[in-house]
Amino acid sequence: LSHDHSTLLSVDEAQQRLLDQFETLPAESIALEAAAGRILAEDIYSSLDLPPFPNSSMDGFAVRVADVAGAQVDHPAVLPVVADIPAGRISRQTLGAGQAARIMTGAPLPVGAEAVIPVEDTDFNVREAGVEAPEQVQIYRAAGAGENVRPQGQDVQHGELVLPAQTWLRPQEIGFLAMLGAALVPVTRRPRVAIFSSGDELVPVGRSLQPGQIHDSNNYTLTALVKQNGGQVIDLGIVADDARAVEETLDRAVEQGVDLLLTSAGVSVGAFDFVRSVVEQRGELGFWRVNMRPGKPLVFGHYRQVPFIGLPGNPVSAFVGFQIFVRTAIAKLAGAQDRPRNIQQVRLLEAVHSDGRESYLRAVISRQDGELVARLTGHQGSGNLRSLVQANALLILPSGVKLLQAGEMANAWLLSDIRVEITA
Ligand code: AMP
Ligand code: MG
Repeated sequence: LSHDHSTLLSVDEAQQRLLDQFETLPAESIALEAAAGRILAEDIYSSLDLPPFPNSSMDGFAVRVADVAGAQVDHPAVLPVVADIPAGRISRQTLGAGQAARIMTGAPLPVGAEAVIPVEDTDFNVREAGVEAPEQVQIYRAAGAGENVRPQGQDVQHGELVLPAQTWLRPQEIGFLAMLGAALVPVTRRPRVAIFSSGDELVPVGRSLQPGQIHDSNNYTLTALVKQNGGQVIDLGIVADDARAVEETLDRAVEQGVDLLLTSAGVSVGAFDFVRSVVEQRGELGFWRVNMRPGKPLVFGHYRQVPFIGLPGNPVSAFVGFQIFVRTAIAKLAGAQDRPRNIQQVRLLEAVHSDGRESYLRAVISRQDGELVARLTGHQGSGNLRSLVQANALLILPSGVKLLQAGEMANAWLLSDIRVEITA
């Protein structure tokens, strides 16, 4: 890793260079009920047909097609009911010619049956539990072969690839895995991310502010972001601007076994850059000058072999830096394909300025006359977290563009595309 002070990296190059430093974590096998929000480590092949047996999709009467051919309300087919088949029970009886069987939704179709006539199309329009089946039934309509029957293997065939590795397990995948009988699921280990803030001015929430102090907000933002992206947080709190304290904190994190050290502030090339000097002593640290705004240098390195990312201290810069760099790194650790950003073309309602770096500006996107329009959320100071709260998107000005006029089009990155936290 070079200590590169001279080259100006594009955002894409910096992202790629950072990603190259991360490896996907090993797999572990966990209980299905704990797997929501995790990432599949292996391809999943079905060991079952789904449905596992042909079954009825309605409450009704199982019949043979020929026996109901031409049936109508004023000319019903009248059939003896020879069996009553609730869900969960196999009928021992084969359905012979001229016979019907009452059958419930999800119950296995009896051998010999070809279709199910719903109760609504018979003279026995009864669904209440506990009501005995009639001795005979009048069928008011004809049926085609397979009507209201879910055939075995219709949805999934035994041996089929059903979920590829890298799939992010949403509630619907969890239910699907349950259908397949997967009690244990191979997932990648959750990335363990140690977070700390540095600065003598910072106090945690719950303490009153003395003159010159502010609440540490980055720790809370970053914790929520890490969790939202499937990571586990090791909270190391606030560390004073003091080399010993920084070193002790980093050592504590490394000894607990973490996959990423994530910090905000304290890394600027100024007088109080303790984090920088400590990391350099026991590892390596690079300052990458990235052609973006907001952005101090992106600080990346290793401390005792553990990857280290230093985000800027300013709360908006820390948030944007996380979204652009840390999110993809965590996704790679977790074995997930980072979901593509939700980028939309928007029309500007006001002129937007930049200094020519790739700029990420807080904006509100709304729909107006059938198109998406954008306006900025007030002053864009990188300490103004309120303007980020008011935003639902980051407007992206490409590098080299210093001005876009009102009425021009631009790209907006909708922030609502981030993952919803499921894991605790
Ligand atoms: P620094 O990178 O240490 O120069 O900090 C830049 C700015 O961000 C300063 O105004 C700090 O007070 C502020 N800042 C640093 N860390 C935090 C934090 N954890 N929460 C809120 N503001 C912070
Ligand atoms: Mg500071």
